[in-house]
Amino acid sequence: MRRDAPCTGEDPRGVVVVSAPIPALQIPELDQCVHCGLCLNHCPTYRVTRLETESPRGRIHLVRAASEGRIDPGERFAEHIYLCLMCRACETACPSGVKFGRIAEAAREVLGPPGSRSARILASLAFTQLFPKLGRLRLLIRLLRFYQRSRLAPIARRIIPRRLREMEAMLPAVPDRFFVPDAEVLPAVGVRRARVALLNGCVMPLLFGDVNAATVRVLRRNGCDVVIPRNQGCCGALNVHNGETVAAKQMARRNIDVFQAAAVDAVIVNAAGCGATMKEYAHLLAHDPAYAEKATRFSSMVKDASEFLADLGLTGPLGPVDMTVTYQDPCHLAHGQKIRAQPRQLLAAIPGLRLVEMEASDRCCGSAGIYNITHPEMSRTLLDEKMMSISRTGAAAVVAPNPGCMLQIQYGARRTGSNGIVVYHLMDLLDRAYQAAEHPSRLRLPS
Ligand code: SF4
Ligand code: SF4
Repeated sequence: MRRDAPCTGEDPRGVVVVSAPIPALQIPELDQCVHCGLCLNHCPTYRVTRLETESPRGRIHLVRAASEGRIDPGERFAEHIYLCLMCRACETACPSGVKFGRIAEAAREVLGPPGSRSARILASLAFTQLFPKLGRLRLLIRLLRFYQRSRLAPIARRIIPRRLREMEAMLPAVPDRFFVPDAEVLPAVGVRRARVALLNGCVMPLLFGDVNAATVRVLRRNGCDVVIPRNQGCCGALNVHNGETVAAKQMARRNIDVFQAAAVDAVIVNAAGCGATMKEYAHLLAHDPAYAEKATRFSSMVKDASEFLADLGLTGPLGPVDMTVTYQDPCHLAHGQKIRAQPRQLLAAIPGLRLVEMEASDRCCGSAGIYNITHPEMSRTLLDEKMMSISRTGAAAVVAPNPGCMLQIQYGARRTGSNGIVVYHLMDLLDRAYQAAEHPSRLRLPS
């Protein structure tokens, strides 16, 4: 992170300059903001704090001031930039089309990872040594599983500091098995309609292996040959959102090469945050002469699973799934990819399923990548609000097609004692509907 000492002076326009101007922050998106303030009440951090500095408009002012050298991009600046959830709700609200996500990403690239010096070193190690090297991540999750099942866990909970205890409470139970595809290419069931590749992801196969398996089954039942390239890696979303763009670019290049070699019609993603990032590889690699064009082609092939299936049209038969659900719009699906209708359209196709909309379903649940670890207070405030909205619907289950939201709402259910609330991925419910058609007697779900 930049920690330059301010050097006060005056530029030729008579503006007080306290630091060197930062060309990397002089981006066109800043000029699009007309400071109307229409985004303010859509911003979760502004709604909680009522502070201009914690609003999109305020942050845009701060980034502009830093870009011109009028403020020092030090500790205080970093706090405002990192209190942002990167939810992009302000982009949906903005009539001028300001892509605030790009402004925040540019600021974070200048700042580097968030937090204290030791937290930044740890985060940087995770972003450069863990997520790009999935074997290490798998080993870490195996160790976590061992810890969770050992007698060590209850003892550790009694002696570790409160902050660590809170972080431990957020961790999901690691499942017995990770998702390992049977083969690199899994053939379509019935008439072949498309050849697609699936992003296996980093944490998805380890913590939500069942969701990946369900996604593959649903795609195959809809006539897709599914390719799961072995050499693919993490999409780099956490890196991009936390100022580690050098590693993110390497991860993007690797995925572009691997998926291009798979020769598919579309690259399917079932995690909203990953999909939004991969759709923006074109922007990430815009100045890379060797990859700019390839990245543009690649980004245009990336589809969220719901987007792809709604466009393709579901093939039946789907059996009944008799339950009442509510739907959480993941930020990076609703705001990042503008996908809202397609998941609802697919839910409506499941016989017996009733959807009750919650209030502000597209407001962030407070997960936001590692935000629930770096900003636990704000994250919990937003989660509590979300759990209230969920509970008011009376639904037995929440559908949230993104791992971060699923983990956060599961944690919210444990925290608020609403353990009856179950969280499903959309692909999981579609898969259950197909199973219900094939084996009607086997299915047991909360109603
Ligand atoms: S980001 Fe958009 S909505 Fe917000 S103040 Fe600027 S122009 Fe207005
Ligand atoms: S991305 Fe979300 S938290 Fe950040 S300024 Fe926009 S609305 Fe607020």
